[in-house]
Amino acid sequence: MVDLMPAQTHRWQAVEAVVRAHFGRSGFNEIRTPLLEVTELFARGIGEATDVVGKEMYSFQDRGDRSCTLRPEGTASVVRAAVQHGLLSQGPQKLWYVGPMFRYERPQAGRQRQFHQIGVEWLGVSSARSDAEVIVLAWDLLASLGVIGLDLQINSLGTTEDRQRYRDQLVAWLEARSDHLDADSRQRLTTNPLRILDSKNPQTQELLSEAPTLLDALCDDSAQRFEAVQSFLVAMGIPFSINERLVRGLDYYGHTAFEITSNQLGAQATVCGGGRYDGLVHQLGGPVTPSIGWALGMERLLLVLEAAAAADSDGFAARLTARKSPDIFIVNRGEQAETCALVLARQLRGAGLSVELDPSGAAFSKQFKRADRSGAAWAVIIGDQEAKADIMLLKSLQSDNIEHHLLLSDWESVLVILRD
Ligand code: ATP
Ligand code: MG
Repeated sequence: MVDLMPAQTHRWQAVEAVVRAHFGRSGFNEIRTPLLEVTELFARGIGEATDVVGKEMYSFQDRGDRSCTLRPEGTASVVRAAVQHGLLSQGPQKLWYVGPMFRYERPQAGRQRQFHQIGVEWLGVSSARSDAEVIVLAWDLLASLGVIGLDLQINSLGTTEDRQRYRDQLVAWLEARSDHLDADSRQRLTTNPLRILDSKNPQTQELLSEAPTLLDALCDDSAQRFEAVQSFLVAMGIPFSINERLVRGLDYYGHTAFEITSNQLGAQATVCGGGRYDGLVHQLGGPVTPSIGWALGMERLLLVLEAAAAADSDGFAARLTARKSPDIFIVNRGEQAETCALVLARQLRGAGLSVELDPSGAAFSKQFKRADRSGAAWAVIIGDQEAKADIMLLKSLQSDNIEHHLLLSDWESVLVILRD
């Protein structure tokens, strides 16, 4: 688990601000659920046979002898909360969340044990158009952050019956070739055969290129639905490709599944993944509620943003992730001057400027160096002589020869000059 240090948090805040505004424009409301849930919620919601539940959860007995788990993902908790608070009787719900998730995995670049997701859940909609709208919500968020090199892949997992039929076909086909399968995949033949499709083993992948595909197993309605999703994406001009082997890691998905990957991330390429989960709400004790959602990995998003910022130093990503400099740096020395500077800093901050007040009392030359390093556009200089005369010097740090002598008591004139 990692600390987020001040050199990084400003980037996170910038991204979070864009995220909030983006969801606000699309009518999604934020929900905040606890980090801890009863283990059963995930076992039932995500599925016992998944990697997340089988191998990755942080679970423990609490003092009341209940099995608790640090949430490994957001959807099950959001659905639990929606059911528990009766949200679903109030019509469809457009929800989003951001926060830490916990999975016991092997840490590496873009993969941590505590990581953060931004996610959306749209509960109570079934149309193919809602699938397209939700996918575009993710796509446009990434685009609005200035991220480049994205690839959208979609697939349809069909209905439960489609998947059952396909599962039987696939198992029969793979069983006849099981000596070519890796050990992990052979085990999945009985527990979770669809997951074999996204095995990372190259030999297994090669074998699978000949295997029957999910899309061929879809019934007519499912196939038409998938066509419709695609036509909406085409209408919005969103580039995508179909990946017949895209199955998502959690058991609750059906019909549309999708992933957005980046060519900047190496092995951990998936930035965002999601899909439709029409059975989950009912399974967790709520009314039958068709739903769709996605989750995006914040750490991976930051990696792609940093790559975009490095590729184009004037681009949006670079500006977004740049550290903000103070508007004004106050150079001050001498007893009376330091009091005046303290008062002035408070006045200017109160008026909405960001102000760095040098606290050191060091020589002016040292303070000037710090002012330059701070990146501030302006410096205010106050020595005891100035303080006695109720004067400050406002000096541009970006162009030579621009300076103003101003009255300390008339500090608001600073605002007028900075506004111009
Ligand atoms: P992966 O195949 O990379 O393990 P996943 O299918 O387990 O991903 P999801 O459960 O769909 O991932 O979560 C959605 C997103 O959350 C992922 O696309 C990724 O960006 C991010 N994510 C998942 N697990 C981690 C992790 N351990 N560390 C950092 N980000 C993660
Ligand atoms: Mg995973």
